[in-house]
Parts: sequence; structure tokens; C-alpha cells
Amino acid sequence: MFCQSCSMPIDDAGLRGTEKDGSKSNEYCLYCYVNGAFINPDMKLDEMRNIVKTQMEKMHSPPNIIQLSLDSLPNLKRWREKTKTT
Ligand SMILES: [Zn+2]
Repeated sequence: MFCQSCSMPIDDAGLRGTEKDGSKSNEYCLYCYVNGAFINPDMKLDEMRNIVKTQMEKMHSPPNIIQLSLDSLPNLKRWREKTKTT
């Protein structure tokens, strides 16, 4: 299971974001989504790319894994919906 905004694995329930009623989100992590809303609703896909890249480099992820994650971002629910509406 992956966050549909930043592609981070959210298998651990403690990493999941929260809905308005306090339940855990099945789609987004706690860094992207709290109380039923995105923490940074105006974020662009390019900004998310930079954040993910920086985070993964900090965690010393292999470059090919980083690239895979970046390539998967446009297919995630958050960004798919964005490109559909604009
Ligand atoms: Zn996320």
C-alpha cells in the first residue's frame, strides 16, 4: 500500500493520514493528509517530485529506486485527478 500523494509505503497504520472523523485514511500518509484535507493543497506535482527526491536521497535510497518512485507519482490518485480537471 502506498500514499496516493507522495508514493510513500503506508503499510503501517501509524503512517496513515486521518479523515475528518478521525479514522485512518486508506489512501494518504500523515505527511500529506490530516483531518480529511491535504496539508499543502496547492502543491504542484513538480514540488512533490522535489520533496520525494530529497527525502529519498536523505534515506540513501538507490538512484534507480528514487527514479521509479518519481515516475510513479503522476499515476497516483492525487495527481491523476489534478491533470484530469485542468
Ligand atoms: Zn503522502
